[in-house]
Amino acid sequence: MFVAYCAVCDRRTLLGVDEVDWVENLTHGVLSVSGHCPNGHEVVILTGDAFTPHQDPRHFGPAPRVWTKPVSRLRGWLRHRFELSRDLPGPFYRF
Ligand SMILES: [Zn+2]
Repeated sequence: MFVAYCAVCDRRTLLGVDEVDWVENLTHGVLSVSGHCPNGHEVVILTGDAFTPHQDPRHFGPAPRVWTKPVSRLRGWLRHRFELSRDLPGPFYRF
């Protein structure tokens, strides 16, 4: 079932699968579906895989372990140092 816009009627109608006259494969991932609106006007719908949203190809996912391992080691080293530095130096214990 498709939502077809008829420019003559200036409204959208549902186009059932049994009301489809032609389906043409224009190019890779682009289909042209032809039919008629309830008033008999011809409507054409462009659809196909090219119109479905896909994941952004510029997104490469999480950083590889080779990059994150040194950072996590540094984080662990800093955490260790921070815990050691929380102890007050000896002269401060007098107060
Ligand atoms: Zn129409």
